[in-house]
Formats: sequence, C-alpha cells, structure tokens
Amino acid sequence: MPATTPVPVRVPAKVNVQLAVGPLRPDGFHDLANVFLAVGLYDHVTATPTDPSVPGITVTCAGPGSEHVPLDRANLAVRAAEILAAHHGLAPAVRLDIVKDIPVAGGMAGGSADAAGALLACDTLWGTATPRAQLLDLCAELGSDVPFSLVGGAALGRGRGEKLTELAVGGPFHWGFALADGGLSTPEVYRACDRLRGDTPVAAPEADPALLAALRTGDAPALAAALTNDLQPAAVSLRPSLAATLAAGTAAGALAGLVSGSGPTCAFLAADAGAAARIARSLTDSGTCRAARTTTAPAPGATVLDATSESHA
Ligand code: ATP
Repeated sequence: MPATTPVPVRVPAKVNVQLAVGPLRPDGFHDLANVFLAVGLYDHVTATPTDPSVPGITVTCAGPGSEHVPLDRANLAVRAAEILAAHHGLAPAVRLDIVKDIPVAGGMAGGSADAAGALLACDTLWGTATPRAQLLDLCAELGSDVPFSLVGGAALGRGRGEKLTELAVGGPFHWGFALADGGLSTPEVYRACDRLRGDTPVAAPEADPALLAALRTGDAPALAAALTNDLQPAAVSLRPSLAATLAAGTAAGALAGLVSGSGPTCAFLAADAGAAARIARSLTDSGTCRAARTTTAPAPGATVLDATSESHA
C-alpha cells in the first residue's frame, strides 16, 4: 500500500576498519578487501508524496556542507529514486528532503548513505515492497558503498566493495572523529595511491583474520592494533595537515587513529566513552580539525523512522 504521509529514514555513516586496496584493474577500479563498520553519525532522508499529475523528483538538502551537495540528478538520492521507479515501471512524484550530519566528501560514505536512505524511503512510500536482495542489487548499481549503507552493522566488501558478507560484531566500540574543513575527492585519492605505489607490485587484498576476530569479540585494543587503510598515505599526501590531526588524536589517548576511507575525516578508536569524549575535546582544542564528534559502533543500517515519534532535525 502506498503511504500518503512523509516517510523519514535514518542512515549511518561508515568507517573502514580495514581498507586493503589491490592493484589497478583494467576497468579503472581496484579490487578491495574492505571491512565496513557503521557508526552512529546519521543523515536523514524523508520522502514526501507530491502531486501525481506532475511527476518528477525534487530534492532539498540542509546541514553542514550541504552547499556542496548537488540538487539535480547528480545527487545520489535522486538517482536512487529514479532507479527504483524504473525498476517498478512507475512515474515518480516525490520530494526528497536530506538533512546531513555525515560530513560531505568526508570519506564516510555520506552520498551512499543518502542513496540507500532514498531507496528505502521511496520503497516504503510507494508500497513497492522490493525484496531485500533486489534492493541490494539496485544499491550496487548506484555505487560501491551503497549496499553497506542499507545493511549497516559490519560487513566485508569484496570486488569494488559492493559484494558484501555481513560480519558478526561485538562492541560497542567507542570512537572520536575529527571532521575536516573541505572534502577530498575519492577518485583523486585512488589516483594518488596508484601514483605513490608506482611500479611496486601490489598483493591481492585479503581481510585480516585478527581484525575480524577483534570485531567479533568486541576487543577494542585488538581492533586498534589491526586498523589499516591503504588509502591513508595518499590522503595525507593530498592533505598534509592530516598528519597533525592524527598525531593530536593519538596524543590524546586514542588506542589508534586512521584516516576514514578516502578522508579527510580521521577516526580514533577509544577504550571507552570517557576516553572518546576526552579525545574529542583535545582534537577541538588542538585546532587541527573543524569539529570533533564522538559516537559508538556498530550502528544499524538504513531504518524507517516513526514519523510521529522521531525528530530528524
Ligand atoms: P565515500 O566515502 O563513499 O568515497 P565520501 O563520503 O568521501 O564518499 P560523499 O559525501 O559521498 O563523499 O560525497 C562525494 C561527492 O558526491 C560530493 O562532493 C558531492 O558532489 C556528491 N554527492 C552526490 N550526492 C550526494 C549526497 N546526497 N550527499 C553528499 N554528496 C553527494
């Protein structure tokens, strides 16, 4: 049954606790072993029905960095609504309102989160009840990180990152995040990674068994010891100031710190909630980031909220 009232959906950001990048493939992508962990920073996407006699998809975006988010078909949420409508042979008539809390171009899959959120919100609004496996296929068409934004928790992504195996995860894990001024372009970071590697042979990427065990058992020190991001040298080469951010978080007592995905957000794993708060305060005081946040993981994937009881400002 189609809904007649707005459908709000909440979608988490991700941090890559392992990002192993294989050699450049002939198609321009890289094979990855990408261990995603969903964290409690959220975007909200609300789908509202519009006049069906005037089909079309409109989008608004609010929140930090929203001025850098396109409001046309380049917006991944719009593409998600289009692809779902086409899948069901519908002429879409919907407005998508995005409220961003995930840093834009921050290496935390904000655009992918909005795509997964729009897919779920529109599927609920239109009453199309798309089976989960089909929704995941549509997510993979939209982008490598989109399937994970739908499922949340923790998962291993193979291929370009879109072939997901859900992982058991203990926790909670406590994190501090240093949000940067301005973003980094993911394709540019991959190009810098290839440049830095030059002709050095690159091994096929494999998930680290010690890291998977630490995730499963909720062992923060063991997870800290295993955190790796092959894109970090490239992100730091493009944004050298990240070295100072990483040093500030580590000096503040983080178990470990790393660049999140393609950056420039830096993620710091903490022993407990108090340590995460202290790290965030020190990061703010250090002046090496725009803002600092704390949160826990794992976070659930895209979730339809009860429009009457949940605030999504
Ligand atoms: P990833 O970690 O998946 O590589 P990211 O978190 O670094 O991505 P995004 O926030 O997804 O980066 O934004 C990358 C670019 O995508 C932005 O600069 C923007 O132009 C474009 N974009 C398209 N749709 C969105 C959206 N809904 N939210 C944010 N950016 C979007």
